Amino acid sequence: MEPSLPRFQKAHGKSEAEIRRRILQAIFEMRLPPGERLTEEQLAETFEVSRTVVRQAIARLAQDGILVKMPNIGTTVAAPTRKETRDILAVRKMVEPDIVRMLAAGTVSGGLERIDAHLAKEKAARNEGDRGTLVRLTGEFHLLLAEVAGNHVLTRLMTGLQTLTCLAILLYAEQDEACPPDEHRRIAESIAAGQGERGARQMLEHLQHVEVDLHLDRPDPASPISDTIAWLRGKSEE
Ligand SMILES: [Zn+2]
Repeated sequence: MEPSLPRFQKAHGKSEAEIRRRILQAIFEMRLPPGERLTEEQLAETFEVSRTVVRQAIARLAQDGILVKMPNIGTTVAAPTRKETRDILAVRKMVEPDIVRMLAAGTVSGGLERIDAHLAKEKAARNEGDRGTLVRLTGEFHLLLAEVAGNHVLTRLMTGLQTLTCLAILLYAEQDEACPPDEHRRIAESIAAGQGERGARQMLEHLQHVEVDLHLDRPDPASPISDTIAWLRGKSEE
């Protein structure tokens, strides 16, 4: 019944990465809301792969904080609190202006063309009023910059941070769009002109605009689960 080892490993590696990619895309397009419960059975059936492969994909996404595994509840899509979102954006503000500086100093071959092509897609989605695609594309712009910088560690870090920001936007944003129009284009223009400092400043301001729209200064509501845990903890200490 078990497939032969080499075939299994080949299919396994490909499928696991593909499942992760599809889950991230679903989050970026707001098809998978924060807190949504996912089961191994459901994912294995959807992607027509073994539960072992699904388990690997879940483990990797859980490592990046995108999925959360809780005993007795199972696996859910992360629902970052306001405090967590503030921390995520603080890291983004440290990292992303430097990505822009790196890119302004020189990109890998074809990098500027890829950024331009991406901006054209964002513009088309905005004109067509295709909100799901637009939100995904504006999120992917930030990942593309990390990717074009050619640093895999940075790409993985940014994937986690960007995905969690998308989930926070769904929870807390009051406006319709995650990234304000034209700001990506201005950052890209600074990169193309080799103006790293200007681009870095624009990126910082851009992230501040995203943050302002999330109203992170409001208190986090206490969740019923953490209340219970606090109560149990209090009882055990008596
Ligand atoms: Zn943006």
